[in-house]
Amino acid sequence: VNTRAAFSLLKKYDKAGPRYTSYPTVPAWSSEFDHEAYRNALARLPRGRRTPLSIYLHLPFCAKRCHYCGCNAVQGDGSKSVDSYLDCVERELELIGDALGGPSPATHVHWGGGTPNYLNESQIHRARRLISETFSVTDDAEISLEADPRLGTAEQAAMLRQAGFNRISLGVQDVDAAVQRAIGRNQSEGRTRRFYRECREAGFESVNIDLVYGLPAQTADSFSRTLEAVLDLSPDRIACFSYAHVPWIRSNQNAIDAGLLPSAQDKFSLFVQAVTALTGAGYEWIGIDHFAKAGDDLAEAYRARVLHRNFMGYTTDEGAAMVGLGMSGISDTLDCFAQNSSDLAEYQRALKGGALPTVRGHALTAEDRLRRAVITHLMCNMELPFDLTATRFGVRIDEKFKDEIERMRTFADDGLVAIEPEGLRVTETGRFFVRNICMEWDSYMGKSADRPVFSRTV
Ligand code: SF4
Repeated sequence: VNTRAAFSLLKKYDKAGPRYTSYPTVPAWSSEFDHEAYRNALARLPRGRRTPLSIYLHLPFCAKRCHYCGCNAVQGDGSKSVDSYLDCVERELELIGDALGGPSPATHVHWGGGTPNYLNESQIHRARRLISETFSVTDDAEISLEADPRLGTAEQAAMLRQAGFNRISLGVQDVDAAVQRAIGRNQSEGRTRRFYRECREAGFESVNIDLVYGLPAQTADSFSRTLEAVLDLSPDRIACFSYAHVPWIRSNQNAIDAGLLPSAQDKFSLFVQAVTALTGAGYEWIGIDHFAKAGDDLAEAYRARVLHRNFMGYTTDEGAAMVGLGMSGISDTLDCFAQNSSDLAEYQRALKGGALPTVRGHALTAEDRLRRAVITHLMCNMELPFDLTATRFGVRIDEKFKDEIERMRTFADDGLVAIEPEGLRVTETGRFFVRNICMEWDSYMGKSADRPVFSRTV
């Protein structure tokens, strides 16, 4: 990694910007897109084996709220609140099943949160059954969940495997005790190691670890110990997310001592440190913040430049529509996005009243779809062949987007992209700034300043 070049550009490019988990991004969506619009979008989805779906279920409950948490999570108050939440998920699935007009195949099922393994055994089996009653989950489906090692046991790992889960991501964030104190999350390394091993013994096909950089009290030394500890476990995939300090949006972050946060420069160094250590250990750098072992599906898709992403993360599946269930769940019917309420009470109220809990969404125009293909390909594959959209949209990028390509010249001058006859290539230094590059292709940029943009681009 050419760190000197990247550091010299940090000031110029470190600004607030979207993470492009969708295009257009959520701030551009409208509250006028309601449950009826979502219902109609579901009804338009083609059915049959060739159009499988990805299913996301949001389970917001956690044993205790961590100070740094940026997720849509709530502190659980026992199994009753989970049961009544699952009653609402059941209702939501009935409404979605009606709109779809019959069972559709699902090739990916992911449970995120919150802490999905906060649920007890019967709740886990119930939620799995509810999904299988609405969708025909294929035999070879990827069924994954996020889990908190502090709640994990060998029995739970075995039960999750028996319930059909084949991939698991363990929240670690940082193993250093000072960092854990600063973020309100005590999780001994021994505990993490034990649950990791128990997941391996239970036979999960893929055991992954999530880290966060830019946390309070994190230093180059402490983070290097974290990276070593994680590499020692040898997970299949590692996500290394950027911490976004936004206490005006996430009030739980007020418990963080802002004086302990690393400077922008130090935070960037932490990420460079992660990239250097993980790629040095043989992991392929995927997208902006993921790493996968060579030979992993994602690593192979990236090498072949056919990687994709959706709200659940990076994927090898192109064009699978997504149904998001639960509070804050996001759906992507390929021509529309729809989001459920992020307020637990509002989510439950809508469903008890018999309506889908949609609070905002967006119907994609033809131009949105084209720009979406461009931005997704740039974010995932670090290149933009000018003929990328020729077959699907009948449009060559160098003919349609002359202004955008012109704007790439500044990035080329800074060594972030190479403009070649057949397309653009994001350079090694440019990878750190790929969100800035994508912002030039985003026609909504700057048009929704009234809504929050969640994180710094670097
Ligand atoms: S960081 Fe994870 S465990 Fe902590 S409150 Fe957020 S979702 Fe729950």
